[in-house]
Amino acid sequence: DMAMYAAKALPGTAALHYDADMAATSVGAELQDAIRDDQLFLLFQPIVTLDEGHRVLGAEALVRWNHPVHGTLAPAAFLPLAERTGLIVPLGRWVLRTSLRQLADWPAGTLLNINISPRDLREPDFATALSALLDEYGVAAAQITLEITESMPVVAGESFTMLDELRALGVKLALDDFGTGSSPLSLLHDVPLDEVKLDRAFTQADPDGRVSVAAGVAHLAEALKLHVVAEGVETPQQAERLRELGYRAAQGYHFARPMPAADFEALLPVEARA
Ligand code: C2E
Ligand code: MG
Ligand code: MG
Ligand code: MG
Repeated sequence: DMAMYAAKALPGTAALHYDADMAATSVGAELQDAIRDDQLFLLFQPIVTLDEGHRVLGAEALVRWNHPVHGTLAPAAFLPLAERTGLIVPLGRWVLRTSLRQLADWPAGTLLNINISPRDLREPDFATALSALLDEYGVAAAQITLEITESMPVVAGESFTMLDELRALGVKLALDDFGTGSSPLSLLHDVPLDEVKLDRAFTQADPDGRVSVAAGVAHLAEALKLHVVAEGVETPQQAERLRELGYRAAQGYHFARPMPAADFEALLPVEARA
């Protein structure tokens, strides 16, 4: 029953508008405990081919908080607080470790996209820590794509240095939510990217011309030799239109919702699981 994984607002976050410090202190302390006590968990949303077979190419790891009082919380309920308080750094390390531990359990070569925060790129030991985790769990760097959202300003000088370090490790980099940010297009070749993810605002075609943004991004990705994934595909019509526009990979409720690890594992090809 996927309903239990639906997004919920965190009661009490509304209080942030009135007394930011106090609420940040109590909810922040709870989140700190949550990271330490493994109240967080990951769901995995398949990334599939857009051809008839809808072959599973990999998954994206998406964090949830199993809150002792409020139940399962979606990232929107706690990531903004984590970003403000700096807890995003230990949270991100938890996500990396848990993702790699999970990958170690799956067939060799399974691909996983992991979201990171712009803040991670300013932590001088980020690449070193990731490299140590890859070694610890015996995961190949090539299995990992790190997703950096375009909706937050990424790019200070030290972030570029870190992106190069990460690339040197052999992990891939994706620009997430593409089209929602205010990045100059020059970012696409200034940052050593492997993939762009078209934001669902453009996947979900409507009559006002957004579909031509999807077409433009497909051309851009092809010209720059970037892998491109369409996010938030909810209907067969959207899937078909994107396929016609040249998209080969997609993600969305039409194919599969974010799901527990065991359910994703069951979708992997039998020969890969043997
Ligand atoms: P995102 O990286 O763009 O992830 C895609 C979001 O769209 C997910 O929301 C996913 O559940 C949702 N989604 C997938 N398919 C569909 C669809 O067909 N329709 C609609 N309406 N939504 C769809 P979720 O899991 O709530 O995550 C929200 C955002 O939180 C993510 O957006 C990402 O930016 C951030 N996030 C999630 N997990 C992590 C994490 O481990 N670390 C960091 N730093 N950020 C994370
Ligand atoms: Mg993402
Ligand atoms: Mg996205
Ligand atoms: Mg998004």
